[in-house]
Amino acid sequence: MIALARKYRPKQFADLIVQDHVAAALRGAVAHGRTAHGYLFAGPRGVGKTTAARILAMALNCERRAAGTGEPCGACDSCTRIWTGAANLDVVELDAASNRGVDDARELRERAMYAASAEGRHKVYIVDEAHMLTREAWNALLKILEEPPSGVVFVFATTEPQKIALSAAPILSRLQRFDFRRIGPHAIVERLRHVVAAEGLAVEEDALHLIAKSADGGMRDALSILDQVLSFGEGAVTAGRVREVLGLISDELYGELLRIVAEQDVTGVFPLVDRLVEAGADLGEFVSGAGETLRAVLAVGVGGEAQGLTEGLQALVREHAARLPPADVVRLLTVLGEMEVQLRASGNQRLAVEVLLLRWAMMDRTVELEAVIKALGKEPGKGEGGRGKSGSTPVLRDAAPASPSPLPPSPAVSPAAVPEKGPLELDRLRGLWPRIVDDARARSPLLGALLAVTEVAVVQGGTVGIRLLDTNAVHAEGIERQREALAQLVGRYVTEPVRIKLEGAGSGERSPQRASRMTEEGARQERLRVLRAQDPNLGAAVDALDLELLE
Ligand SMILES: [Zn+2]
Repeated sequence: MIALARKYRPKQFADLIVQDHVAAALRGAVAHGRTAHGYLFAGPRGVGKTTAARILAMALNCERRAAGTGEPCGACDSCTRIWTGAANLDVVELDAASNRGVDDARELRERAMYAASAEGRHKVYIVDEAHMLTREAWNALLKILEEPPSGVVFVFATTEPQKIALSAAPILSRLQRFDFRRIGPHAIVERLRHVVAAEGLAVEEDALHLIAKSADGGMRDALSILDQVLSFGEGAVTAGRVREVLGLISDELYGELLRIVAEQDVTGVFPLVDRLVEAGADLGEFVSGAGETLRAVLAVGVGGEAQGLTEGLQALVREHAARLPPADVVRLLTVLGEMEVQLRASGNQRLAVEVLLLRWAMMDRTVELEAVIKALGKEPGKGEGGRGKSGSTPVLRDAAPASPSPLPPSPAVSPAAVPEKGPLELDRLRGLWPRIVDDARARSPLLGALLAVTEVAVVQGGTVGIRLLDTNAVHAEGIERQREALAQLVGRYVTEPVRIKLEGAGSGERSPQRASRMTEEGARQERLRVLRAQDPNLGAAVDALDLELLE
């Protein structure tokens, strides 16, 4: 079987995807007999530089080129020999990475003097990785280019033109430069689709997206990956097969990440990292995939589209975009930027990734900040000692999860652990309260921490009156926002529908001493204690996060 990467290498300028500007200029030059003696093709790897050079050689030497057009026929004897790389006197391909000595340059010079093999033909030298040539080699080439033999064309291909500018600046003025563009995933998918159709292969659309993403702008790489995947088994190429072959992380794990961040579900962080590690995932790849996913959420949030992702991941991004406003996503991405060095250099990559995810999951949200400002505005007299800098923006410390949606059943509580439902009575509920706080904590440590500073004050009809044990307006706001979720948590233990009401916040009638001692610092310490108790692993991470919590 011929490798697809080879079989589908372009035979005409028109087949060069994305590089239309190069194709048009070269076609025109050939058609009008105005080709230069030296070209510099600069651009990332796999975007068609050497392919374009070969097509140029084919076009210059084609036996059946129609007058007035610059396209080679692609089928004549000359075209075929050049395209297949068969022994050919008129095209010499050199890899500068292995031909960089001055001797090679001299040899090159001598060979160039022989010019083309026959009247009317062109001799094309294609020098790949040209930035690897030595200064001496460039000097020898400069002499050739100053007085070029007729019919000789040099094409220098490089991924690093700036290096040539440093080592051989004078030669650049003798070369006509073309910058090849990176090929976007969209163009790659389109080309792959064409190849797959031409080959009669069954390949899932999502599989094409994954391949395009992995190819990272290189068309040849994309076809090589498709070749690889095809070689790893029979039948239709599914997204799953591509992931397996390339060791890619499944969309579902990125979806879980979005859920954790959107719901501020800190407890979900460690299980997610466990799953990644168990699946043998590359954590660095996961972090960059997470960054891409958040970028897509941002794009959707500002009215754009989630491009370059699989359909499955696009659906997940759309699902979560509503809960992650653009301002929040920008801050999430800022945190990623801050941690980049740490993530790359850390000896303990797993911990670095965990800290990143915890910071994301715990990050203050725009909506909550607004709620805090509002809450503070309502009670300007409160907390004189705690909030000294009244002019500065208050930063939320004790945000409860932003999600107003009904609380899903907690995965941490097995059905067996849920006690029988009973009547809604004050004493019974007070006895159950520590368990309800635990349940809340299993769902979200922040909600748990919030409930840890409350007590059941009164039960009246179907309404449960909750009282705060401190005077923190932020806590009151948090409980207000979480009333529905709290009603569901309580509802697990009682036979009738429950409503939650916040009794005079901060009045502290029942526990005056405790309430007065519950300063903001105390509340923070309490929250840290609760977080630490939650999971022993969390202890170290919370220490690492301490500054974040203090902000
Ligand atoms: Zn031809």
